[in-house]
Amino acid sequence: MDLYDALADKAVGGEPLTREEALAVLATPEDDLLDMIAAGFRVRRHFFGRRVKLNFLVNLKSGLCPEDCSYCSQRLGSKAEVLKYTWLKPEEATSTAGVGIAAGASRVCLVASGRGPTDRDVDRVSTTISEIKKSHPDVEVCACLGLLSDGQADRLCQAGADAYNHNLNTSDATYASICSTHTYDDRVDTVERVKHAGLSPCSGLIAGMGESDDDLVDVVFALRELAPDSIPVNFLIPFKGTPLAREWNLTPQRCLRILAMVRFVCPGAELRIGGGREIHLRGMQSLALHLANSIFLGDYLTSEGQAGQDDLQMIRDAGFTVEGADPEQAPDTHHDLVKVRKRGAGTTEVANA
Ligand code: SF4
Repeated sequence: MDLYDALADKAVGGEPLTREEALAVLATPEDDLLDMIAAGFRVRRHFFGRRVKLNFLVNLKSGLCPEDCSYCSQRLGSKAEVLKYTWLKPEEATSTAGVGIAAGASRVCLVASGRGPTDRDVDRVSTTISEIKKSHPDVEVCACLGLLSDGQADRLCQAGADAYNHNLNTSDATYASICSTHTYDDRVDTVERVKHAGLSPCSGLIAGMGESDDDLVDVVFALRELAPDSIPVNFLIPFKGTPLAREWNLTPQRCLRILAMVRFVCPGAELRIGGGREIHLRGMQSLALHLANSIFLGDYLTSEGQAGQDDLQMIRDAGFTVEGADPEQAPDTHHDLVKVRKRGAGTTEVANA
């Protein structure tokens, strides 16, 4: 039996991976990549079958953040030309959420920039949550509003929120090098408050910020300890105008190794491919679905993603099904595929290379 099959057996059998085993997954040689994915797929299938959960982001408040997280386009001093606006009205947020739900999302993620919400902000978001729940009782609502203070998680829970997202992002040892305005412990504290209030905890990481394999294993082992129900793995989007704009150090293979490591270490958690999926995994996105069981549909907070229609087509082409969707109702995937040539020989337009 090879290493990856042994790791899959351990993961399915509930035996925790050791640190050395997690590091070995990150060091998988190119020639063994498909064996690693096949073993990871066995674990994914055991817990989630061939289902893909679709999550839809609604950016309630964009930019103008007083915090200095170096990976973020909305940070203090960011020169990134992203949309900047203050709180959407609850009716605007509810109607935007409806677009994602109509396209197949079974979870709506309500996100706002900032260090954390005021009690007035929690009231505002609570109204939006109740409105969404009134019209879509089966859809999960997750809030992501930053660091929470006393009683705020309980109030979101009472308003009908199902989950709260707050990512650890990177290891405790490197946290101070990516942010100076709050600490790793502040983030852990919010995840603990979320759990205590009875909300489903969602917490993940960002890869590609120059971290070592040890840092990645540290943060994933810390997540295993916190036991979130869902783990978003984001791949850094190096926005121009942010301190990490030049950090283009991920390859599709590296992204697959990271996803596989998270799948083996936290086998029963919903593993979501977060931001950066299209620009870092590129043609390997559908291979990554064999490890992850969840993605964001369409656009991210401040950057555009693949068209939602193309996400749905990718899922279907790879042999997966959208969680909660009726397969009979799957959209026509042959939209606009045939394009009549209008450039190159015989025309005045130059052909694309
Ligand atoms: S607190 Fe959130 S919005 Fe503000 S800079 Fe950090 S990640 Fe960005």
